[in-house]
Amino acid sequence: AHLERIRAVEPKVKAFTLVTDELALEQAREADKRFARGENLHPLTGIPLAIKDVIATKGIATTCGSRMLENFKPPFDATVMEKLHDAGIVMVGKTNMDEFAMGSSTEHSAFFPTKNPWDLDRAPGGSSGGSAAAVAAGMAMGSYGSDTGGSIRQPASLCNLVGLKPTYGRVSRFGLVAFASSLDQIGPFARNARDAALLLQAIAGHDERDATSSPQSVQDYTGALTGDLKGMRIGVPEEYWVEGTQPGVVSAVKANIERLRELGAEISPVSLPHTKYGVAAYYIIAPAEASANLSRYDGVKYGFSYRDTSEMWEAMEKTREYGFGPEVKRRIMLGTYALSAGYYDAYYKQAEKVRTLITQDFSRAFEQFDALVSPASPTVAFKLGEISDPYQMYLQDVFTIPANLAGICGVSIPGGFSEGLPVGLQLLGNVFKEDTLLKIASAFE
Ligand code: GLN
Repeated sequence: AHLERIRAVEPKVKAFTLVTDELALEQAREADKRFARGENLHPLTGIPLAIKDVIATKGIATTCGSRMLENFKPPFDATVMEKLHDAGIVMVGKTNMDEFAMGSSTEHSAFFPTKNPWDLDRAPGGSSGGSAAAVAAGMAMGSYGSDTGGSIRQPASLCNLVGLKPTYGRVSRFGLVAFASSLDQIGPFARNARDAALLLQAIAGHDERDATSSPQSVQDYTGALTGDLKGMRIGVPEEYWVEGTQPGVVSAVKANIERLRELGAEISPVSLPHTKYGVAAYYIIAPAEASANLSRYDGVKYGFSYRDTSEMWEAMEKTREYGFGPEVKRRIMLGTYALSAGYYDAYYKQAEKVRTLITQDFSRAFEQFDALVSPASPTVAFKLGEISDPYQMYLQDVFTIPANLAGICGVSIPGGFSEGLPVGLQLLGNVFKEDTLLKIASAFE
């Protein structure tokens, strides 16, 4: 049924870089056999899911939305893929994304933009726009994306889904193509809290192949879905009501806050004073890490290789000139500059200090509150081509970036509509409090 749905709507939505239909049918038959044998099945056995094309899939193209990796087939599976295959999922395909996960609209894909299923003239958000659009259009029951500064929560918000960024270290990054290693996390897109809980449960946990993955035991996420908010303390950060947020988004979010109150939560304001420096710090730290991570694409080890010369430097230069798109080059330039001698102290070190201050803002807030609530994105889905200024695009993530800098968890859940387009409600939780976020999300359903 999902493959049929893909045949019907994918030509319009363009969510996938690759539809793995043969593999999907094979995995579906395998799931049927296990069911017929009366095996004790994992809840995800036989469930059709889509995977962002930044997650390594053994023998299956993993492009990162880039010409650089257009023909790259990883010789190994990411840890999350190993876990999902053990669970018996049906992988329907790899999903489109902004090149190397840099962007908020999926328009920076080297191949084609993805459309928002709610309005095909609009962007689904990004960088995990393909994963969001696939679920929103009914082409998969759930999907996985990656979130470095908002790339799960912002597209979830624009496509009316539950999109969860786990605590840094909750999910293994082994096999997640690196953008900014101290910020990247893999997480699920789903239609409701229960699905999100199942999808997170399946991938969470320690992995000895990722030194930054946490040994902390994994909670029972589905067990947390009680919907009981009595006595829950929820803070509303004052600094998250910034100029530039659309009035329709503000009123939808305010209505949801009232609902939280009606459901028994205690709501009060809280101050996160360093919020206004979040975007600036992120756009130094993320490009700095990216400039180091992307140095591996030299045309020698793997990926695109310019061969039309016998000169080593020319080969490397042309490989990177033709292999990377404009946004990726902009990030490499920004990051290399911020890390260079003489500027390191002025930019990179300052940004890291700001990061600590933002982390401390959250630590203080979580002494008083179980969760914080805000808009997920300042706008509803915007028209394709509407945002051409890079800085305006960066502001899409003004509400999501601080969570990545602090390493805490966050989720965007459906929060109503403004002029017919979805508005996302962001909930932020302390480290390893994904259960709290899912509990609140479940109360809304
Ligand atoms: N939009 C932000 C950026 O371009 C975040 C992207 C992400 O989370 N991968 O860096």
